[in-house]
Amino acid sequence: MSAFTYDTNGDMLAEGVALRTIAQQVGTPFYCYSAAALRAGWQEFADGMRGMNASVCYALKANSNLAVIKLFGDLGAGADIVSVGEMRRALAAGIPGRKIIYSGVGKKPSELMAALQAGIGQINVESSAELETLNAVAGQLGVKADITIRVNPDIDAGTHEKITTGRKENKFGIDIDLARDAFALAGRLPNLKVVGVAMHIGSQLTTLDPYRAAIARVRELIVQLRADGHRIGRFDIGGGLGIVYADETPPSIADFLQVVRRETDGLGCELTFEPGRRLVGEAGVLVGEVILVKPGVSKTFVVVDAAMNDLIRPTLYDAWHDIVPVRQPRPNAATIRCDIVGPICESGDYLAQNRDLPALSAGDLVMIRSAGAYGAVMASSYNSRPLAPEVMVDGTRFAVVRPRPTIDEMLSSERFPPWMEKA
Ligand SMILES: *Cc1c(COP(=O)(O)O)cnc(C)c1O
Repeated sequence: MSAFTYDTNGDMLAEGVALRTIAQQVGTPFYCYSAAALRAGWQEFADGMRGMNASVCYALKANSNLAVIKLFGDLGAGADIVSVGEMRRALAAGIPGRKIIYSGVGKKPSELMAALQAGIGQINVESSAELETLNAVAGQLGVKADITIRVNPDIDAGTHEKITTGRKENKFGIDIDLARDAFALAGRLPNLKVVGVAMHIGSQLTTLDPYRAAIARVRELIVQLRADGHRIGRFDIGGGLGIVYADETPPSIADFLQVVRRETDGLGCELTFEPGRRLVGEAGVLVGEVILVKPGVSKTFVVVDAAMNDLIRPTLYDAWHDIVPVRQPRPNAATIRCDIVGPICESGDYLAQNRDLPALSAGDLVMIRSAGAYGAVMASSYNSRPLAPEVMVDGTRFAVVRPRPTIDEMLSSERFPPWMEKA
């Protein structure tokens, strides 16, 4: 069941609120998130994990709006972060430091220091160099850092090349064949406490086989590491579970958890999951308004006021996002072949190409589905376009959870160098 459906009058709703109503009050383009859909994803994890020694750390990078983080935090989620900025967001949304995991391939000493000072619960280390740096920083602070080492199990996640992370040629984690050496080093460093092993093999996985294979490999490693004398109490499985953009059939969360349960049976590890996309992707949409329609020789261009700066996934990952009119078309309405494009001065500025959509005209609203993950967080103000506001709907209520900045606000942080004449 989608949170975004037409009502009997043919108006697209987000839960109990018409997107047209939000557009009137907030303007376009805007992102809209359904609280019910966010909770539903969380609940699927909670149900599937019953009886397991496991917890969920929401991967903030998919959508780091404070209201979204707080919604999950209030339900009991921890956070998976990749920067001090995200750490500050998690803490500001009320997630305690001990429930925060710090991931990432290039953490600076200043960032590691900030994380230790904030009492971050677990740092996932991705290189021997980082082990040494963290040991030094922890020593300066007089603390012992709880760490896992992220290993790269060399499994092809079968996803887009820009979002696969678990193959030998990717920059992430420590090659599984070198992992024992890294653990040995970690064991010798006095200010580190090894608590477990982490993996994250990619994003938008639509089958479970890569998880199965990767867990089996890491499981073997855990057995070896224990024989080497390490205490491996935690196994961080990472995130990556896919969602529906077009016609994918990603596994259910229940099936995913069942596979993990089976593959880790008897291992005696506390498990951590770091879902991002799966918790927020389908719970969010981007709404834009048609500026004009431009018939071309080979196809028609529908120019909308949402653009690649708002949602870069089509340009960056060749991603497909379903696009529908906010006003329900008549049944059997004729369609035209079109590109939905933004106003930005780049040929790469499109949201969809070669789509057959019912005729649209200036002023019509369109809804871009599955935009809740890696949408607003990847937005920029290229072409000096203000960041699209974010709205959360909960039942019949809605609230702006990040307003659109004014142009004055955008200009206010910039300075002329002192040697330039005052304008
Ligand atoms: C990006 C990331 C995640 C979340 O990935 P999704 O595909 O959004 O679930 C989890 N863990 C780590 C370490 C990541 O880098």
